[in-house]
Amino acid sequence: MDYAIPFNKPFLAGNEFAYIQDAAENLGKLSGNGYYTNKCQNFFEERYGFLRCFLTTSCTDALEMAAILLDIQEGEEVIVPSFTFVSTANAFALRGAKIIFVDSQEGFPNLEVSKIESMITQKTKAIVAVHYAGVACPILEMKALAEKHDLYLIEDAAQAINSFLEDQPLGSIGHLSTFSFHETKNIHCGEGGMLVVNDPRFIQRAEFIWEKGTNRSAFFRGEIDKYSWVDLGSSFLLSEINVAFLWAQLEKLDEIQARRKQIWEDYQNWFSGEKRDPVLLPKVYLELLETSLKEVVGDVSKVSFQKDEGNFHLFYLLFENADQRQTYIEQLRRKGILAVFHYQSLHKSAFIAQAQPESFQQSLPNAEKFSDCLLRLPLFYDLPKEISKEFGIKN
Ligand SMILES: *Cc1c(COP(=O)(O)O)cnc(C)c1O
Repeated sequence: MDYAIPFNKPFLAGNEFAYIQDAAENLGKLSGNGYYTNKCQNFFEERYGFLRCFLTTSCTDALEMAAILLDIQEGEEVIVPSFTFVSTANAFALRGAKIIFVDSQEGFPNLEVSKIESMITQKTKAIVAVHYAGVACPILEMKALAEKHDLYLIEDAAQAINSFLEDQPLGSIGHLSTFSFHETKNIHCGEGGMLVVNDPRFIQRAEFIWEKGTNRSAFFRGEIDKYSWVDLGSSFLLSEINVAFLWAQLEKLDEIQARRKQIWEDYQNWFSGEKRDPVLLPKVYLELLETSLKEVVGDVSKVSFQKDEGNFHLFYLLFENADQRQTYIEQLRRKGILAVFHYQSLHKSAFIAQAQPESFQQSLPNAEKFSDCLLRLPLFYDLPKEISKEFGIKN
């Protein structure tokens, strides 16, 4: 079905195709680790103080690089939140790790840090932090735990580009961290990602693993006269076609963030009923969301909504049960609006049922509640324009 208002529409900054053309015609290099790769990696290193950045084909691949870098051995344990994307856990499962699942907080999908310490055993190797919705999870407490127990801390910051905890950029705190530039994220290149190395011990191996297990980067820098197989690795480089596209987005990063903030605040003001004078999202659209909500739950104040701001990656409503959520989804669908729920808790997945049946038996009530009751509303740069067209509103 075609929706008048889709859930997401990939943003185009304007210069994407010019830069791709530049890479193809002027620079003559379209494979990875070229001019635009350097430009983007430098941008991130300078703007956020990341020690070293490696652009990858996806955040999933960056997580797989992290798992190789940590030398995860069969049977070692990695602690991850259950309410997250598959790749947060799968990257470590691929190396034979046992995945230990932590519940979410009661009021927010991020993990409950007080539950972690009792899960640490002799076999624990790493803890993975996820910043859901680009909102900082208790990363400093996790860092203290990692230091106390001599564990690695990985940040899956897939949704958290340009998010901060006080003054610290998310992605700069863990030993390693990963970002996504998938088309659903704030800035994107279709598919893409990045591994950030904050601990200098990992830089050299990260470069080998990135370059298919070879020391080819050193060869290109003229440091050695031939390159060879020196480590595990895979094809993790992001093509310059994608990176040129990404550069156009980075140039407009602040504009993208400002727009998302406006939309996010409009939603927040509307649902909190405090300041009902939305200028950025048409009133008709917001009223439509609210009227449909009333039809489903009667009393709108029974539905809670996202209050923590991060980088305005997403905005969610939280229903009392899954049936209400489903009825609301259908109401909106009839009006041409696509709203979608999010993760199914990983400890309840078919894979875990078979691979770690004892984890499948666990009850993680908060994570399960977010799986059943959370609903994300459309949030993308061009949102009002689309609405104006489809609902006959003039901006
Ligand atoms: C989007 C996302 C990923 C996966 O990113 P890809 O670039 O699609 O591999 C991983 N973890 C989280 C938390 C995400 O939101």
